Amino acid sequence: MKDSHPTYHPDIAKVMIIEGQNNFPISWLNVQGYCEYSIYLENVKGIRTAPTRAMKSGSKIHHVLEEEFKRGAIPTTMEEMMETSKTTEIFSRELYVESVHYGIRGLIDEIWMTPDEFIIIDDKPGDIAYPSLINQVFGYCLAFKDRFWDGRRIVASLRQSDTGDIFWQQYFDEEAENQIKNIVDQIHQALLFNREFIPTKNPNKCRKCRFNTKCDRRVES
Ligand code: SF4
Repeated sequence: MKDSHPTYHPDIAKVMIIEGQNNFPISWLNVQGYCEYSIYLENVKGIRTAPTRAMKSGSKIHHVLEEEFKRGAIPTTMEEMMETSKTTEIFSRELYVESVHYGIRGLIDEIWMTPDEFIIIDDKPGDIAYPSLINQVFGYCLAFKDRFWDGRRIVASLRQSDTGDIFWQQYFDEEAENQIKNIVDQIHQALLFNREFIPTKNPNKCRKCRFNTKCDRRVES
């Protein structure tokens, strides 16, 4: 019988064991797209680095947006929001989603719920839709769909945090869903040590990487 009490993985940081299955943060889908090996260095080997400027400014912007939202927010339940949004447009911030089935969890920065669709927004400091950022927002879509979906269209969106401009948007269709399911599965296989965490071959990424002084797989240009 599966244990229903979530626990932390004994050897891998940030991985939880929920209903007997590993569950990792959806933000790792972004990290994996940059360099999967950094997940290994940070969470399996336990290597620590100082937070980057982008990480610090990202959490500051999130805090400001969250405070603004709270000032006008009406506390409600997810069930109420799902029901209300069938007839009225509403939005929510910092919505926690957890998929036991896919073994992923995270906080959706913002979600607009309309009678026709759910628009899932991830705030980013830049305005380039790198594949790694797309993977992350697809991860939120996958978890949301698994947990709450009622047949309405799901739209994945990336938004520039300073300007509030949406700079990339795509329907979370079957192709997108299959794509992200494959990537999620790849990470699970690495967490089970069925395969190795793969380092990037791009020296430019290594040059900018916060682990580059401590990484044994760093590539030089
Ligand atoms: S230094 Fe390069 S290989 Fe090592 S974790 Fe960073 S990006 Fe990956």
